[in-house]
Amino acid sequence: KGEVDIISGALELKSKCVSEVMTSIDDCYMIDYSAVLDFNTMSDIMSKGFTRIPVYMGERSNIVALLFVKDLAFVDPDDCTPLKTVCKFYNHPINFVFGDTTLDVMLEEFKKGQCHMAFVNRVNSEGDGDPFYEVLGIVTLEDVIEEIIKSE
Ligand code: ATP
Ligand code: ATP
Repeated sequence: KGEVDIISGALELKSKCVSEVMTSIDDCYMIDYSAVLDFNTMSDIMSKGFTRIPVYMGERSNIVALLFVKDLAFVDPDDCTPLKTVCKFYNHPINFVFGDTTLDVMLEEFKKGQCHMAFVNRVNSEGDGDPFYEVLGIVTLEDVIEEIIKSE
């Protein structure tokens, strides 16, 4: 890819938003907060190859924590440690953005932030109950960089 493509990709960041490049929550590999870190669960996590694994409670759209694969370094599968113990110990911050956040703003957030993953949130005000937040997808630094370098 030439320089011109990369420059035009960078210029397009202003006109694209995170909801256009996110990985939908349905396609996201996640883990239930009530899971137990036994051999099967840990093998499953390792086999997917992701560095960051969102943790949900109840509904998949209800993200409550973030697990890093490196958090498992001191976990012995024979101990059957509850995932929540590990989540509470590391307590990694989770960042939420709205779907209309533009990619240039998202890139700045990733540059100054601690984590290179954010959750794309929306307010669900359908139905009779109180409006609530729900997560639609995840966006990572890689998703933004890809827009810069793959641009036509
Ligand atoms: P790293 O490259 O830092 O090791 P990674 O390979 O786990 O991390 P990224 O490079 O951040 O993940 O992202 C690569 C792609 O995978 C992106 O499109 C991102 O949205 C997607 N992705 C990241 N984590 C997950 C996950 N847990 N489930 C599904 N898709 C994911
Ligand atoms: P990740 O962000 O995927 O968890 P990481 O933080 O280990 O990975 P990178 O984000 O890829 O590493 O790199 C951050 C910086 O640290 C880069 O400047 C890289 O060259 C440097 N770096 C990576 N691994 C090492 C290492 N083993 N020793 C010294 N510097 C390293």
